[in-house]
Amino acid sequence: MSKPSKRKHDDTETSSNKKPKSGNKHWALGLLDSINDPELQVTSDDLCVVIKDKYPKAAFHYLVLPKDEISNLKKVNRDHVKLLEHMIELGKTITEKHIDHNFKFGYHAEASMHRLHMHIISDDMNSPCLKNKKHWNTFTTKFFISAEDIVDDLKENGKVTLPSPEKLKEYLNAPLVCHKCSFKPKNLPDLKKHILTHLKK
Ligand code: AMP
Ligand code: ZN
Repeated sequence: MSKPSKRKHDDTETSSNKKPKSGNKHWALGLLDSINDPELQVTSDDLCVVIKDKYPKAAFHYLVLPKDEISNLKKVNRDHVKLLEHMIELGKTITEKHIDHNFKFGYHAEASMHRLHMHIISDDMNSPCLKNKKHWNTFTTKFFISAEDIVDDLKENGKVTLPSPEKLKEYLNAPLVCHKCSFKPKNLPDLKKHILTHLKK
């Protein structure tokens, strides 16, 4: 298994002052416990497990993980195209139930958690767990790469083309902008209030 990501984990609920249930494991391995947690598991098949994101950044937020030990996007190649397409199909099955919501399927260009995982996230971005600019920017800038783009890249180039470290920093530090209009909030509370105006009545 490759080393867990160096990207700082900023989901405060799992910060190091709280001991994980599983003992002293590194926080970045948390998804490997969660795929076996009946409270989080939504469905599974021969190839994948779908779980609820423990700290959802929108009304509905799921993660699709392969059962095979694939640590992250850097380890993915042309042989994984079928698997990644299957992950998208699983996502479609899950989201069919939520007819009132639009969803995005994709990957963080640099994941903080170990084991490849595709995010399935409703596009409201309305959640108490969304607590800082980094949370916002990881889902609303090019830090978030659509699952379809990843598959196309793999088919074309046999590997995933990832942004440079400088670009990643730029995306994470970009000024806050509403993901649905050009509104530029003063701060996150301002943005959180604003996004409510986009919710379906
Ligand atoms: P990333 O690695 O940046 O693609 O995102 C990891 C995702 O996993 C985040 O959306 C977190 O809210 C979520 N998360 C963190 N710890 C856990 C856990 N133990 N179980 C389920 N989801 C988690
Ligand atoms: Zn807006």
